[in-house]
This record gives sequence, structure tokens and C-alpha cells, in this order.
Amino acid sequence: MSQLDDHPTVKQFYKGGGANSPAGSLIKKESAWLRQLCLDAGADDVGFVEVNRPEISDQKDEILSVFPPARTLISFACRMNRENIRTPARSVANLEFHHTTDEVNEVARNIVQKMEAEGIRAMNGGAAGFPMEADLWGGKMWILSHKPIAVAAGIGQMGIHRNVIHPKFGNFILLGTVLIDTELETYSQPIDYNPCLSCKLCVAACPTGAIGADGHFDFSACYTHNYREFMGGFTDWVGKIVESKTVKDYRKKMSDAETVSMWQSLSFGANYKAAYCIAVCPAGEDVISPFLTHRKEFVGSVLKPLQEKSETIYVVPGSDAEEYALKRFPNKKVKTVAKGLSGQTSIGGFLRGLPLVFQRGRAKGLEATYHWTFTGREERKATVIIRNQEIQIEEGHQGAADIQVTVESDTWLRLLRKETHIVWALIRRKLRIRGSPKLLLAFGRCFPS
Ligand code: SF4
Repeated sequence: MSQLDDHPTVKQFYKGGGANSPAGSLIKKESAWLRQLCLDAGADDVGFVEVNRPEISDQKDEILSVFPPARTLISFACRMNRENIRTPARSVANLEFHHTTDEVNEVARNIVQKMEAEGIRAMNGGAAGFPMEADLWGGKMWILSHKPIAVAAGIGQMGIHRNVIHPKFGNFILLGTVLIDTELETYSQPIDYNPCLSCKLCVAACPTGAIGADGHFDFSACYTHNYREFMGGFTDWVGKIVESKTVKDYRKKMSDAETVSMWQSLSFGANYKAAYCIAVCPAGEDVISPFLTHRKEFVGSVLKPLQEKSETIYVVPGSDAEEYALKRFPNKKVKTVAKGLSGQTSIGGFLRGLPLVFQRGRAKGLEATYHWTFTGREERKATVIIRNQEIQIEEGHQGAADIQVTVESDTWLRLLRKETHIVWALIRRKLRIRGSPKLLLAFGRCFPS
């Protein structure tokens, strides 16, 4: 140890009185001080949540696994420029999304830097915008969910379009989170009302019917269209290139404009295809004026151009979104693309994904309890109940089954990816059914791919 004590770095550390020692982080900090620091770092609003807050208990283990000393979550918002988001010119809207996303990541980094200078251990809580832990594809690709943290931190409340609406800035914000090892003297609480006006303009604007007037949200519809040039859509595009025998064959599947759009996404950041729900939302003190004072003009100048825009809408064949887009938007081109559950790489991912791709329109009239038994590499038992156009998933076998399905897990994943045929699986007894096969077919219709 005497060698270590003689080292210049160690000598300098003790000469400075042991600054930045972990003991410093045990002192509770004032939230007003931290709030000002975050605003100075570029945030437009900020709130604080203790890591033990019940509203985020489902995220706690994950947060602690990436940053074990986490005690406080700093949630912050950066404003977007409204007109840039509202225009039908998606290139302008995408630039605004991308620039604000960069700003959020920059602000998070600035806060972390300032924390380090204060001797507080801190870490960016995860990229703004969309999941980035790509090696976990098919599973949970994100470290934490910014939205529930922002709600707990009093940044806003969730509108029926599933975006956080700030009481002043409306939904024209992007969110970031920073984790720190220090407790605060006081924490933020959720705001006591929802800025969402229930005006349903987001319902009317969405080209895929993803947002139901009754508050239902069709994740698959939103993900397939709006995120066409992100993760799943990108892998589908690569598949189309690989399976094309000639350039002519490829061009039958992808127009030149679509190929160029993919280039644009790869070069300048992935293009959102719509996000019209955010564009039209009139909620928020700074935003609401034209909606209240000149409603007809507001609808005519903000909602109508998006509805009337000539564009391609991407839908899964046989989905509720396909039916909705064809009926509601005859002026738009509807293109079917493979998605749904076909990209799953694990049974865990398949079961987690079921509620996300469930098509309630296709489930009309279906009332059944399915007992699933997965064997082989990933052994698992699960119960899937479909009733009143809703889906419920439970671990293990619960209640009386209308149909029992036993399947070897790898075979099931290959079936989902359409790499093998159900008849082959039945003959080889990799798939066994007790109950009416019609129920299995009806199950499949609820999850088109
Ligand atoms: S558009 Fe209207 S209904 Fe939709 S989230 Fe905004 S305020 Fe709520």
C-alpha cells in the first residue's frame, strides 16, 4: 500500500481533503437548488421522484440493475416548436422531433456533468424518443419508461393519445430522465387534473384508428405505420430486399420513394410517418387559445390538411387498422406490410406482445379460454382469455380451458415467422391441440401478421 500512497493521483486526492468521496452523496439536497440547476442545464420543466415511489415500482428493479445507487429520478421536459410539428410536411416535423430529441439527450448529459462536479453520482436514464437496447430486440429494449416517471414527477398527465400533456406547454414536449444517488428534502407530486380535453381531435387525426374514441389504444396500428422506418419496419424492409430475386422484383414491393425515405431515415434519423395525434392536440395553457377562440379555423387549418394529405398508410393485413384506413381515408393509399408477432424471438416476448397486437375488431364474438403449454427450450404455461373484445393473460393454467394447446417453443416461434407450416407441426406432434381447431384459427385472426 505504501506504493499506492506515493502515487501522484493518490497524493493529490488526500491533499484536496478527499473531495468527491461517496459520503458527500449521503447529504440530502434541496430540490429548489436541483431544480434551478436542471433549468440552467436547458430543461423547460423538471420534477423529482424518489426511487421507491409506488407509481414506478414496476421499473425499480430495472433502474437499480443499471444504476445500483439510484435514489432519485430527475424527470424533465424540453419544448418542441408547435408549428413545426403541425405541418403536413413531415420533413419539417421530423427535424423538430430529432432536434428536440438531441436536445433532451444533451440536457440529460449536462445535468449529469453538473452532478459529477458536485460530487453526486448520476447517469442518463435512457435515450429520449425510443428504445435503444437493441440486443434485447423482441423483449424489453428500454431501461426505463420516461412517461410514467414524468407523470409521477408532476410534468403532466397522459392524454388519451398516450402522450404526456404538460399543463402549460401541452403535448409539445419530449421527456428525459436522469438518475442520481442523492436523496432530496422534498419530492414532486403528480398534477391534480388531466390537461387532456377529451376533444378527440387525436382520434380524428390518426390515419390508422390507433386511438379509439372510447380510450382504447391499438399499439400495433401505431407501431406499424408511424414507426415504419424504425426497428420492426426496418427488419421487414431488409427481408424484402433479401427475398427479391431482381431489382424489378424489389420495385414491385418497394417504390423508389420508399427506398429513398429509408435512406433519409438512415442518414438523418428515422422518419416518423405521422405523429398527427401530437400535431392536433390543443391541450395546454400556451396552446389552447386558437382552439377555444376560433375552433372551426383551428380544425380547418390543423386537422384537415393532415386528414386530406395524400400519403401511404402502412397496416398489417387483416388488421383493424387496414379496415379503418380503407373506410375512413379513401384519399390515402393503404399498403399491407408484415409485422405483428412475426418478429418474436422468445415465448416470453410472444406472451408480452399479445396485448400489444391484439385486434379487438377481429375478436368480435369470440369468448374462449386458452391454456398454452410451451415445451422444449423455453418451458412455460400461460392462460389467455379473450372475452368482450378484450384480452387477459395469466401465468400458469387458470380456470377451465375451452382449448389446450401444447407446442414446442422453437416450433411455435418458427410458425410465427412463417418458417414452417402448421400441418407439419401437427403431423410431427410438435403441436398438439385438445379442443376445437376453430378456436385456434379464431385466436390467430385476433393477432394478424
Ligand atoms: S387531442 Fe384532445 S383528446 Fe386527444 S389527447 Fe389532446 S386534448 Fe386529449
